[in-house]
Amino acid sequence: MEKQKLQLNSQNYHSNQANKDYFSVSQFKSFMDCQARTLAELKGEYTRPPSTALTVGSYTHAAFEDDEAFSEFLENEHDSIFKARGGKYAEFVQADMMIETIMNDPFAMFALEGDKERIFTAELFGATWKIKVDSINYERKTFIDLKTTQSLSSRYWSDKYQKYVSFVQAYDYVLQMAIYREVIKQNTGEYFNPYIVAVTKESPPDKAVLHFDNSRFDFELEYVQTMMNNFIQVKSGEEKPIRCEKCAYCRQTKVLNNTFEIEYLLD
Ligand SMILES: [Zn+2]
Repeated sequence: MEKQKLQLNSQNYHSNQANKDYFSVSQFKSFMDCQARTLAELKGEYTRPPSTALTVGSYTHAAFEDDEAFSEFLENEHDSIFKARGGKYAEFVQADMMIETIMNDPFAMFALEGDKERIFTAELFGATWKIKVDSINYERKTFIDLKTTQSLSSRYWSDKYQKYVSFVQAYDYVLQMAIYREVIKQNTGEYFNPYIVAVTKESPPDKAVLHFDNSRFDFELEYVQTMMNNFIQVKSGEEKPIRCEKCAYCRQTKVLNNTFEIEYLLD
């Protein structure tokens, strides 16, 4: 019999035990970036330095969840948000502007209507996945993810797509929507339509509600499937993790034993 997996709730969703028991989109992306670092994090041997960007992201999400969640967040993260002499740090002043931009837009607020921060799990590609949906609307059969970005029209080179893409593909948000869509299907019996409510870090912020052509999802699911056997084996310790040799973890743990030709400096 398989070991009982952690019963997920909002308190333990991001815990190390939850990450050991479940795959998630962010863990998949982390395995794509560096298997060695991801495994070291799961084992508790390495912790990524705390990032203000992550706190700002959670701050923005809490603002749209409800007043209680937001007050609780402000209390818990008080010292990272408020300066000792009063007022908020610049990143949070900017976040307030972004939150206000969305809150003042009736269409964006209409799009965000639904149950907030709902957790679902499902079996996919030989593993159990966890997802947390920013907003899900059972009547409309839609779900929404709130995203902040530099600018709506920024172009990024993508090795995955072999072309210039928008922030949505560059940050694998199509992949995220494809996985969420499958997990929600397993829980509700129906495919829900994903949307992104995007707001930019520009001053004043730009905004958009984005939908997806359904034809985009098959490619993403196949892409995930081709990687998963390997990731599952690495996670269970059956296979050795590959080091990216570029991230902070790899640089910190690097041991030289050979030379390489200068050609390999760029790849
Ligand atoms: Zn690495």
